[in-house]
Amino acid sequence: MRGLTTQRVLVTGGAGFLGSHLCDWLLSRGHEVLCVDNFYSSTKDGISHLHDHRRFELLRHDVTFPLHVEVDQIYNLACPASPIHYQHDPVQTTKTSVHGAINLLGLAKRLRCRIFQASTSEVYGDPNVHPQLENYWGNANPIGLRACYDEGKRCAETLFYDYHRQHGLLIKIARIFNTYGPRMHVNDGRVVSNFIIQALRNEPITVYGGGTQTRAFCYVSDMISAFELMMETPDAVTGPVNLGSPDEMSIRTLAELIVDKTGSGSKIIEKPLPSDDPVQRCPDITRAREILGWSPKVGLDEGLAKTIAYFEQVLAAPGQSGT
Ligand code: NAD
Ligand code: UDP
Repeated sequence: MRGLTTQRVLVTGGAGFLGSHLCDWLLSRGHEVLCVDNFYSSTKDGISHLHDHRRFELLRHDVTFPLHVEVDQIYNLACPASPIHYQHDPVQTTKTSVHGAINLLGLAKRLRCRIFQASTSEVYGDPNVHPQLENYWGNANPIGLRACYDEGKRCAETLFYDYHRQHGLLIKIARIFNTYGPRMHVNDGRVVSNFIIQALRNEPITVYGGGTQTRAFCYVSDMISAFELMMETPDAVTGPVNLGSPDEMSIRTLAELIVDKTGSGSKIIEKPLPSDDPVQRCPDITRAREILGWSPKVGLDEGLAKTIAYFEQVLAAPGQSGT
């Protein structure tokens, strides 16, 4: 039987990088967790440690199809987040964001429960306002290779707002900027895990373009704590709220830092810059500071050290060449 403060929480995309950490966090807070995932960009490994947890349940399901479950809160994280994964099957990526949002908003409407949307800095496209504030409408290419993700997430935000205005749903939209940490998949393809794995294997570090493009990197534990703060805000708070680190750096600097921290003999090489790769990205997190009282606590040195230690273990495990 559940206690009065215990919630039954649905986490879609719960087997993925952020989702698995969110499941851990919610369980540690005493909640029941229903993890829904179709393992498009993850495996059961990310949640295997939860297999025998008595408050954890796993359902294999694709959110592009309707879902009939009973829960008190919904965190919608289902969507591949790495460019190589979301561009692999772009039609499915758009369906996941758009049909997935429709299905989960429909569920939230029936249950009259709060619903959190894992939106993204990609709604700003290749921004020409810097740093990005929530009131900036963005500069996204609707027909480019990143559009399946960017426009899918933009449309999901539209759906969230229309369900809020039309049906009074309690929505919470977070615009997540680049986040990294343990449990990123070895084949994830995003920059932090790529560089660390290349450095640990003494392989060339692949900087795309000249490496002058910028990002700001947030450690996973900081991001997960912000998710819960966002979900617990008063009804009137809908977002969007930017969540991420305000410490901007170039991709080349990140490569040099990782070579240095791993003591690697890797050389830094240049590869072609993917199309529509944003030139400069960094969040303005004033709104998160004011509304959530939140800002990241784990610096890049500490976060990278933990992430490097994680990948050292993964790559050293028997049978884990990481391929
Ligand atoms: P991830 O790829 O590791 O996890 C996404 C999860 O969603 C995977 O387990 C995948 O199998 C699942 N999924 C994909 N399509 C699905 C479908 N149709 N039905 C059910 N499950 C499906 O990515 P992540 O980094 O954990 O990102 C989680 C969420 O946060 C995503 O919505 C992403 O857009 C958002 N986000 C993440 C970042 C970041 O830096 N990590 C930045 C911005 C936004
Ligand atoms: N990048 C890179 N080498 C890699 C992977 C990524 O130089 O091996 C660059 C990529 O071109 C982008 C930045 O790193 O400019 C961040 O890429 P990522 O895929 O992590 O996320 P994005 O912010 O582009 O969605």
